[in-house]
Amino acid sequence: MVTLSSPDKVLWPAAGLTKQDLYDYVLDAADRLLPQLADRPLSVKRFPRGVEATGFFVKDTPDHAPPAIGRWREWAHSADREVAYSLVSDREGLAWMSQQNTIEFHPALLRIDRPDRADQLVFDVDPGQREVPPARVARWIRGVLQELGLEPIVKTSGGRGVHVIVPIERRYGPDLLRPLTLAIARLVVEQHPDELTVEMRKDQRGGRTLVDWSRGGSSTLIAAWSPRAHPAATVATPLSWDEVTDDLDPTRFVMPSVLERDDPWAEQPRPARLERVVRAVEDRGVTLVDASPRGRTSSYLDQDGAVPSAPAAADGA
Ligand code: ATP
Ligand code: MN
Repeated sequence: MVTLSSPDKVLWPAAGLTKQDLYDYVLDAADRLLPQLADRPLSVKRFPRGVEATGFFVKDTPDHAPPAIGRWREWAHSADREVAYSLVSDREGLAWMSQQNTIEFHPALLRIDRPDRADQLVFDVDPGQREVPPARVARWIRGVLQELGLEPIVKTSGGRGVHVIVPIERRYGPDLLRPLTLAIARLVVEQHPDELTVEMRKDQRGGRTLVDWSRGGSSTLIAAWSPRAHPAATVATPLSWDEVTDDLDPTRFVMPSVLERDDPWAEQPRPARLERVVRAVEDRGVTLVDASPRGRTSSYLDQDGAVPSAPAAADGA
């Protein structure tokens, strides 16, 4: 195992937590965290000067990384070079990541043995200024998904929002998953147009909560059980649906105590097939359109393009 340098360095000043606390948490969480990272190309966010300073995203694995860190190479068109994503599969890898001041683990929504197929649909609830609790929005999304025959799982992001996730079979590419996620998001927004939007551009949201569909089988998402660079040392925390109430307070789930909880994701729904869902969505008059300009041109991981805007609903088409 690596020796931790500067264990007393304070990374979360407001919470009084150090680099040693980070290391201890991550290794205590290993049984839950490692399955979230296994076989997934990893981006991480490092905070060498603590969470009150700026951190930085790291996609490329440094040459000096130890053998415990695996590498998965992919050509990144956006950067015009090859990126060696890290793979973390054991406690040794987690320990080294802590030594590097890695606070946030952002795995891809795909596994490397089938890199062209995502294994989850993601709805990322990003609150606006209006007073609609993210938990309520998550329940609205769940309601629509259930009508379509899907059962989602849910977690806090560790930030302000909530992530609603449907595990899916690895049969579908981005050309289906992006438009399908947008179409489902639209169905939710149609029911609550004053509170919700699918508009990605912030200045177009008018304070409404964004149901972010653009991760429709693409890019990364903060891992369940990953710490966040939040002043309170929050953790992205799996919830059971009966915890998803309007008064849900994501800052209750913090590094020093979150592992005392049971793991609501210990049992997961069987990965879903989507053929019937696609038909059900189209039966409701929503056409599947790929709104992402990068949709067909870039890989799942190469997502540094412009922020897409949501296209107008295709009227009756
Ligand atoms: P919050 O609840 O505060 O929105 P979040 O984790 O959902 O927290 P978002 O900004 O909504 O944060 O982004 C969703 C996901 O997209 C993140 O979890 C992260 O994995 C990925 N992401 C966002 N910004 C970047 C970035 N600059 N580089 C790499 N990945 C990013
Ligand atoms: Mn979010």
